[in-house]
This record gives sequence, structure tokens and C-alpha cells, in this order.
Amino acid sequence: MAKFQKGFLIVANWKMNKTAKEAVDFAKELINVVDKETAVNIALCVPFTALGALAPICVGSNIALGAQNMNSEPSGAFTGEISAQMLCEFFVTYVIIGHSERRIIFYEDNALINKKVKAALNANFCPILCVGETIEERQAGKTLKIIGQQIEGGLKDLPREKIENLVIAYEPVWAIGTGKTATAQMAQEVHAAIRGMLKKQLGSIGNKIRIIYGGSMKPDNAEELLMQPDIDGGLIGGASLVLQSFVEIIELAQKVAEHNNAYY
Ligand code: PEP
Repeated sequence: MAKFQKGFLIVANWKMNKTAKEAVDFAKELINVVDKETAVNIALCVPFTALGALAPICVGSNIALGAQNMNSEPSGAFTGEISAQMLCEFFVTYVIIGHSERRIIFYEDNALINKKVKAALNANFCPILCVGETIEERQAGKTLKIIGQQIEGGLKDLPREKIENLVIAYEPVWAIGTGKTATAQMAQEVHAAIRGMLKKQLGSIGNKIRIIYGGSMKPDNAEELLMQPDIDGGLIGGASLVLQSFVEIIELAQKVAEHNNAYY
């Protein structure tokens, strides 16, 4: 199981928040307060404009840097876009791909998202592919059908030797930024189903891919979510903007990891 092989992954998704200066102040403070020995993998997915200022601070620390999007093409006439090579200059490790805000507001479909996942893996990034159902899809009993399509379409023809770098984020759209969280049991059910889909599509390597949960994760509910057998970490929006709540979630992940290690 990915959880015990790789440790938890706790990722901040800052979306369109924080200037470069605010990002630097946050990262310095975070590096100061997070236990250097922590087994939790931590990443900050920040606006493009903060990457240059954060790179020298994060390199050599236990905080990895991430972007929130990238273009699938290496270069060209794509006004306003950012390529993998440009992100490499800032020592980026993770790239969020197919976030529901990009799918819904910017009309990204599974075919485009698949191109981006491939380009991210080819650049040696760890793409965080977001999947999840809307409230209408859940109420119509279509949750697993929609997620099945997102996984199948998003992960078509990936370079096999790099697949292990992939991360899946299950983010029920109705839980993002709404304060409504999937119960731990609801989230676990979908994570277990995604694990099955990954094994079916990718073979045994599907076992090694982290599946993290996102959707109003906060200190109040993080522990119960992270205790679930198929939840390997969290993608955190609102609660990652405030240092104290982000640090609390990291500490809870550390606590659950210690508990798990005592039993496995
Ligand atoms: C997100 O946007 O990825 C997210 C999980 O946001 P929030 O934690 O605010 O629901």
C-alpha cells in the first residue's frame, strides 16, 4: 500500500492567493516550525509569480515546490501559458493538473488533461491529477462512472517507467471551498474504488500511486480522513493559506503515520 511505502503527502493549493513576498514569509515560517525529522512529505503549490522567490528558500529544505497548472506543449504561440521547461528552472517537483476549477472555469477536458499529465511525467515532475464528481453527479449515482472516465482518460498511454511519480487527488467538487467535507467513510469508499481502477488500468504499479483527499480538509477532520487505509495524504486549499492550520494538518499526518507504523 502506497501509504506505508512513501509516507503521507500534504500539499497546499494556494490558488490565486499570496504575493511573492507573502509566500516567502509563509515558507520561511513553515520551514522554521515544521519538525526537520518529519516523515510527512510537504509541498506548496503556489502561483507562478511566487516560484522565483520561493525556489532558493525551499531548495534544501523539506518543503517541495509545486505549480498549479502547466501547458502540455514545450513552447510556442500560447499567450499566457507556462511550459514544463520554465517550471524546471524553479526546481518544481509537483504540478496540479485537472483541478475542478480548471475543468469547470477553463473548460479543460480529459484529453487535454491527459496531454498535460504526460508532459509533466516526461519532465520528471510528480503530476497531481485531480478527479471528482459534482453534487448532481453524486446525487444521480454517477460518482464512480465520472471518476472512472477521468482516470481512464487522464491516464491514457503514460510513460511506464515514470508512472510511480503520479499522484491522484480525489476532490469531490461539492466539498471544495464549501466547508462540506466528504465523511471519512465516503472518501475511503471512493479512494478504494480509485485504487481498483489504477490497478486495472496500470497493473501492479497502481498500488504504488498515492491517492490523496481534497475538499475542505482542516485540522478538525484531517486525522479521521488520514486514518483511512486508502487515503495517502491531503490537497488543501483554504486551510493551507493560514500557517497555523496547515502546520496542524502536517502534525496530524505525522501522528497518524506514527500510529500506523506502530501497527504495521
Ligand atoms: C482545493 O481547491 O484543492 C481544495 C481542496 O480547496 P479547499 O481545501 O478550500 O476545499
